[in-house]
Amino acid sequence: MNKLVEEENAIQGYYSQDGMKFDYRKLNELENSYGSSFYIVNVHKLRENYLKIKQAFKSRYDNFIIGYSYKTNYLPYLCKELSRLGAYAEVVSRLEYDLAIKLGEDPKRIIFNGPLKSREDIHLALKNESILNVDSLYEVEMIKDYALKNQNSVVKIGLRVNFDLTENGEPILQDGYEISRFGICIENGNLQSAIIELKKIANIKIIGLHGHFSTTKRSVESYRIKTKKLCMIAKQSLADSLEFIDIGGGIYGELPASFQINAPTFDDYAEAVCEVMNREFMDFERKPALILEPGVAMVANAIIFIAKVIETKSVADQSFILVDGSVHNIKPTMHKNNLPMQIIRRNNDLKAKKMFNIVGYTCMEKDYLAHGINDALPNKGDYIIFENVGAYTIVFNPPFIKVRPPILAAENNDIFVVRRKEEFKQFFNEELYIF
Ligand SMILES: *Cc1c(COP(=O)(O)O)cnc(C)c1O
Repeated sequence: MNKLVEEENAIQGYYSQDGMKFDYRKLNELENSYGSSFYIVNVHKLRENYLKIKQAFKSRYDNFIIGYSYKTNYLPYLCKELSRLGAYAEVVSRLEYDLAIKLGEDPKRIIFNGPLKSREDIHLALKNESILNVDSLYEVEMIKDYALKNQNSVVKIGLRVNFDLTENGEPILQDGYEISRFGICIENGNLQSAIIELKKIANIKIIGLHGHFSTTKRSVESYRIKTKKLCMIAKQSLADSLEFIDIGGGIYGELPASFQINAPTFDDYAEAVCEVMNREFMDFERKPALILEPGVAMVANAIIFIAKVIETKSVADQSFILVDGSVHNIKPTMHKNNLPMQIIRRNNDLKAKKMFNIVGYTCMEKDYLAHGINDALPNKGDYIIFENVGAYTIVFNPPFIKVRPPILAAENNDIFVVRRKEEFKQFFNEELYIF
């Protein structure tokens, strides 16, 4: 949406985003049914993200699979919708694995990653023929054990590999880490010994390699380097059994203009990755599947959070807008960047602009939903819409001080509940707590 339209909408008190449109009256109606804060999933946007990612990669490399990263947002409705579109479930714990099963996911379409798996987890995943990526050597023993007990079945597994990922000699991992703690290290020979160990058992087949790294810049170049490295190792060590190359997640989604980050597009990533895949496997009769595990890119921009203004308060020379929400609802990492937001006002007699902060219901001083906004001061009863809150929010929202807000979904003017408002009896679940 261009700036002019955005401003016009703001003045008229409309919020509109790809197929979703609200005015004050509509939000007030929703408040009457669901309370004064809630999330809304934009189903249209979610589908669009999936289809755009798929189109970018599949048009360049046909054997392409999207594994949606459950941990980014495992709202059941959302996982199910992505599954319906064709996404595999990428899970990193037994909890998430069980959720995928409960949602009716075909176990063969579950990718089981993550550092911690029990013997039962591994044996279940193997029995179900899920895609299992080994993260550490302790899992190798459990897999061998299963294979020896089930000599009539072919036990297929993948290995998450750990290698030195740098760009121009510089470390690129998030938070300044020089090495990653995940996967099996190539440099110290652990990967080679794991492969030798596994190949000793005739009915174990290593069918793929996995490489997920969280980098600060999420650069296209880092994907090119990573894909190339995975392809090279696969060709050296697994050429006759190779079925997939899994490059993990971590790509940028479409960002709001206000972030002022010139993010690569899905096409940019796909071009780099698929070029490597096509070149490296040119001579392969059966090209391995390319698996991508997007989290943020799939859901970040598909959810908004709406909170009502409860009070406008001045302290010394500053203005605080108290809303029925918390920083935990929209940015649990508490970073200081303001999210894109819009105020939906009951009255549009706009006052002069003023600096204000938006603060939340917890008792923490740092509970700021937004800092230093310069706009006409909101009034009690107005609503504030925070955008881009789909990733790592709902899954990170702690049971702190107040029940979790409900989650709605919007599709073509139709709005329905996908997570009910939490009540006392769920918050202090009597099956858990001893009273
Ligand atoms: C977290 C994670 C993802 C998703 O990462 P995003 O940055 O949200 O895209 C994918 N794969 C694995 C193994 C992960 O741990």
